[in-house]
Amino acid sequence: MKVVILMGAPGSGKGTTAERIAEANYQHVSTGDILRAAVKDGTELGLEADGYMKSGALVPDELIIRLIEDLLDKGNDDSAYLFDGFPRTELQADLLDKVLESRGSAINMVIFLDVPREVLIRRLTGRRICRGCGISFHVTNIPPKVEGVCDACGGELYQRADDCEETIANRLEVYNNQTESLIAHYEKRDLLKSLDGDQGADNLASEVMSLIK
Ligand code: AMP
Repeated sequence: MKVVILMGAPGSGKGTTAERIAEANYQHVSTGDILRAAVKDGTELGLEADGYMKSGALVPDELIIRLIEDLLDKGNDDSAYLFDGFPRTELQADLLDKVLESRGSAINMVIFLDVPREVLIRRLTGRRICRGCGISFHVTNIPPKVEGVCDACGGELYQRADDCEETIANRLEVYNNQTESLIAHYEKRDLLKSLDGDQGADNLASEVMSLIK
């Protein structure tokens, strides 16, 4: 099993990068996407997660780790995972080590996308997502050819409910308080590669690609 973690603040480009390297034989696992789908489908997980997500808080660790274990159970020894938005707390990181160890595996690499705060805010407020295929655009940085319409599938673009200014501030604070310390944690273990995330999406994706191929 291969496990690569994409780390970075909300808006650092984890999802956009993962979408661009989808052909790299890694399964893109965005816990945010999985949770949003659960909320939309009204599943038990979605009902539990909804309130936390609306306010920009983290969903409880037990729910997240259960979701990850279910996902790993569906894979096999040849599976390769690109985690995006997970782990986000020290407890999630410890539990991830344990569930991987119990499957005879371990984290291969953690890639940190480093982006200044003011850039994060601009990216999050301008972000638009396709309702059809889920890929991300930005009103000025990655504009669609036709306003409001996805280049890839023609679906309608929308703004995520938690991409409003007030919730963005909360999400960045949650990141600083609960997630940022994981960078040092993985650096100590010599797993961390830091990349300049404040560059074009295609360049960044090629840098990530050359690290993980
Ligand atoms: P994202 O799409 O990664 O920005 O995640 C959107 C929201 O989903 C977050 O603000 C959290 O409420 C929730 N979420 C996603 N991943 C996790 C995680 N690993 N742990 C806890 N909450 C998460």
